[in-house]
Amino acid sequence: MHCPFCSAEDTKVIDSRLVAEGDQVRRRRECLSCSERFTTYETAELLMPKLIKSNGNREPFDEAKLRAGMLRALERRPVGAEETEAAINNIKHQLQATGERELKSRVVGELVMTALRELDDVAYVRFASVYRSFQDLSEFQDEIERLRTGAPDAENTPTS
Ligand SMILES: [Zn+2]
Repeated sequence: MHCPFCSAEDTKVIDSRLVAEGDQVRRRRECLSCSERFTTYETAELLMPKLIKSNGNREPFDEAKLRAGMLRALERRPVGAEETEAAINNIKHQLQATGERELKSRVVGELVMTALRELDDVAYVRFASVYRSFQDLSEFQDEIERLRTGAPDAENTPTS
């Protein structure tokens, strides 16, 4: 990286150590041009990628929507909350691990289908049969939202 004092391009790492319980690398650097020293901290970037909808719009990843979609598919199925949460965490982890800043929202849908197939066949079929008729996951989630708020026996969930 450039020297913050003189903007020279060549800097040398003179010391490197783990800090923050190993979550961060602290580096002492020295500028080869002006000999000033400075410190940088490096952490892994674990951002959730933005999702690209089929119409090209971008939207932030929405964990609540993902959970709502999965819970809908898993309704009255013998799958515990812990298993469901583990699957959601696994999906988030896979999205982060791509290292991409943007992903087609279809990728999330495929991950959900893979997760549901492992959890429960019925939930998988429920999700897949509905999901495949939509362009992408956000459309599907919109539909779920519509069903949820529109159903006569819907719980009193505040609309946001
Ligand atoms: Zn310098």
